[in-house]
Amino acid sequence: MASIFTKIVNGEIPSYKVAENDDFFAFLDINPNAAGHTLVIPKKEENKIFDLSKEEYAGLMDFSYRVAKALEKTVACERIGMSVIGLEVPHVHVHLIPISTMADMQFMKKQQLSNEEFIDLASRIAANFI
Ligand code: AMP
Repeated sequence: MASIFTKIVNGEIPSYKVAENDDFFAFLDINPNAAGHTLVIPKKEENKIFDLSKEEYAGLMDFSYRVAKALEKTVACERIGMSVIGLEVPHVHVHLIPISTMADMQFMKKQQLSNEEFIDLASRIAANFI
């Protein structure tokens, strides 16, 4: 069965898209640690990050780098934190999180955003994506 993230890539489930190319897709996390918390995924469904080929892994990191640069330009923060967990959704995803404190990386303190705020954030990050 297709993962929830494959359904997002295929447009069967809506998302706040930030960036996309042939192989990768980036969108806002709907339950963000901080405003701008973005997930970067390979379109090819794989459960665990280290089951990707070296080339796929390098491609994911390259795409994540570009998304992180766009995030840094868009969201006020100390830096962009990066984490890979995958215990909830078995489809590889890199968490890119604009952080200012350690608590922002702990997946406990969550930020409430309105639909309008998500749309505005995604479009501003997308505009800074090169
Ligand atoms: P984990 O698998 O533990 O790395 O966490 C999965 C992440 O995916 C969580 O931060 C969720 O908030 C996020 N998430 C789950 N479903 C969606 C969705 N439909 N759109 C955006 N983010 C999602």
